[in-house]
Amino acid sequence: MHHDSLHALLVKEKLSLTRPRRIIFDLLLHKDPQSMQVLISRAANKVDRATIYRTIELFERLGIVHRLNIGWKYKIELSDLFVGHHHHFHCNQCGATHTLQANPMLETMIDTVAAKENFSPRSHQLEIHGLCGQCAGQPA
Ligand SMILES: [Zn+2]
Ligand SMILES: [Zn+2]
Repeated sequence: MHHDSLHALLVKEKLSLTRPRRIIFDLLLHKDPQSMQVLISRAANKVDRATIYRTIELFERLGIVHRLNIGWKYKIELSDLFVGHHHHFHCNQCGATHTLQANPMLETMIDTVAAKENFSPRSHQLEIHGLCGQCAGQPA
């Protein structure tokens, strides 16, 4: 089902679902956001580094993936088209990024806040930073 949507998005741009594109997509599927470094190491022996960068760039342009800016670094995840709308928690200490469960109340609240100021929100990003459970339990 996910591959059908991916295929449809590529065909619309007259592109095909090549093997590297499929491999990279699969590496992102059902995963928390990943850094390029992690992606490259997971794709090792299957897709070379330059192809990974090119593919992520293409995916980003087509709205297949989403880039999360975390300080001056970034991580990549599949866009809301594939995983549904959600938010993240970033740990300042170990650098882990966790996907938070969707919360309809939070979504309504964000829209209400914007609507009060006469805005019609189409999208938003909300990232929470702090310490994950593991890091909070350890003395710094
Ligand atoms: Zn942590
Ligand atoms: Zn939201």
